[in-house]
Amino acid sequence: MQLNELKQVVAAAGVVGAGGAGFPTAVKIAAGADTLVINAAECEPLLHTDYAIMKTQLATMLAGAEAVIEAAGMQRGVLGIKKHNLPRLGLYDGQQVSAHVRVHALPDVYPMGDEIILVYETLGRVIAPGALPLTVGAIVSNAETLYNVARAMEGTAVYEKWVTIGGKVPQTMVVKVPVGMRVSELLEKCGVVVPADCVVVDGGPAMGPVIDPSTSFVKKTTKGITIYPRDIPAITGKLAQTRVINIHALSNCCQCTRCTDLCPRGLIGYPLQPHKVVRASMDMVEEMPHLFTGATSCSGCGVCELVACCQEISPRRVYAQVKGILAKNKLRYSGGAAPVDPDRDYRMVPSDRFARMIGVEQFESEPVLKLNSVMKASEITLLTRQHVGAPAVPCVQVGDVVEPGMVVAQANGMISANIHASVHGRVTAVSDSAVVIAPQY
Ligand code: SF4
Ligand code: SF4
Repeated sequence: MQLNELKQVVAAAGVVGAGGAGFPTAVKIAAGADTLVINAAECEPLLHTDYAIMKTQLATMLAGAEAVIEAAGMQRGVLGIKKHNLPRLGLYDGQQVSAHVRVHALPDVYPMGDEIILVYETLGRVIAPGALPLTVGAIVSNAETLYNVARAMEGTAVYEKWVTIGGKVPQTMVVKVPVGMRVSELLEKCGVVVPADCVVVDGGPAMGPVIDPSTSFVKKTTKGITIYPRDIPAITGKLAQTRVINIHALSNCCQCTRCTDLCPRGLIGYPLQPHKVVRASMDMVEEMPHLFTGATSCSGCGVCELVACCQEISPRRVYAQVKGILAKNKLRYSGGAAPVDPDRDYRMVPSDRFARMIGVEQFESEPVLKLNSVMKASEITLLTRQHVGAPAVPCVQVGDVVEPGMVVAQANGMISANIHASVHGRVTAVSDSAVVIAPQY
């Protein structure tokens, strides 16, 4: 397929990045890169969704990758998979898995799915803070996204999602879910009862937000729904009040600098010095935001909070507030990166130690793959904002009968994405934020 044709097909199918914030894939596929970096790192502990795609749909995913490589005029693709996953998948480092794609074994460290880190690990190139991978000749795409590209080329839009159900559950599993299914119903159908002393997280334990399952719905970007006790280190920081976080940071930091020494992005030269930011009051940041623009480089990975700090301080949450103030002032970092730290290799955080330190190692188990059929939902709520950019605009009315794959909300501008019905049924409610469907099975 030619580049423009592929972009049109991918845009029509509503393909967005399945592994992150949901950047529209049609915008990402562009000329000017030499390498497609396929992100199958499965960054966080306890998630198995990329693994399930690779285990059962490798050929389809690679067809999507080859189509992107060919259309964008790239020379090659690298498939980034953590070392411990290679034997599980029957693959090896350097293996040529399709015409242009070979396997690249990634170190078993956290966070390896961060595209800045991934591009450095696979290509040895540092993307300048705030720049796109394209500026260093790379396009980064998640394995599930490329699977969706291949399906789009076959005429199927994105309306199903592969989701890991994990954490403190009777059985870890990967299931196929219609986009828009209520999370509480999904858990119930998977036999999961959430204990009173536990929380539900959208994604993995380190970066995923705590959600209310009764008011949350599966989105195109949902990788996993995971359950954890409230009192493990991965969760206590998420639940702490911002006021307490700030007082704690200002009063208890001993300036040991471990948070800065271990910051994964700082180690490749990004302008992050969390040990300094925790000493700044938010009043100071409000007054002189231009002194804190480096904060826009923070990925929110949480290594500073979950691994480095022995005082239970959260530089990550301090940085998150600084980023909010910068956004309000329309400020961002505009300089380059410093040289990569020569000690980087010795300061990376091994995945198994990370899982142990954040209290989730006890929940690790081999997943059961339940992928033969798509789960049935009693109601579907399709949010119009499941991607980066403008929300989609509903194009159906109450009472309309819809079929799987039918557009129910149209992309609103270039940075937006179509939303499709995920079931056969009747539309029962339409608003700017959602289209609700009563399925008819
Ligand atoms: S969350 Fe902490 S460790 Fe991660 S990038 Fe931000 S400052 Fe660095
Ligand atoms: S690791 Fe904790 S105590 Fe040490 S400098 Fe960072 S915030 Fe302060």
